[in-house]
Amino acid sequence: MNKIEHIGIAVKDIEKSNELFAKLFGESHYKTEAVESEGVKTSFFKMGESKIELLEATTPDSPIAKFIEKKGEGIHHIAFDVTNIEEEIDRLKNEGFIVLNDTPKRGADNKLVAFLHPKSTNGILVELCQEIVINK
Ligand code: ZN
Repeated sequence: MNKIEHIGIAVKDIEKSNELFAKLFGESHYKTEAVESEGVKTSFFKMGESKIELLEATTPDSPIAKFIEKKGEGIHHIAFDVTNIEEEIDRLKNEGFIVLNDTPKRGADNKLVAFLHPKSTNGILVELCQEIVINK
């Protein structure tokens, strides 16, 4: 794994949180993006080589809605940048981790993503992400 790509934070009201985190970081978010398939709205803040991703649920059955119901707002996942996500999935499965997505799916921010079940990673929801390279 190359670096912490981003840290995902579950929030109830992304507009309010965008303002709050802009004050905290001294810089506004640089993009917002909805991921329909996950039922989330996201916004991104730059943090040097890494990012902070805010996530708000757009549907009541979104994973983010369920997370907030159970645990309240807060850190939802840590995402690690990988060079080859398929290889990483195979490697981690062989190491005994529970991979939630056998096939990587399309995430926010032009990434292929896969998640590891928190029960195999000391309670941390781990996201693997690989940048999608668009050949023009
Ligand atoms: Zn993420």
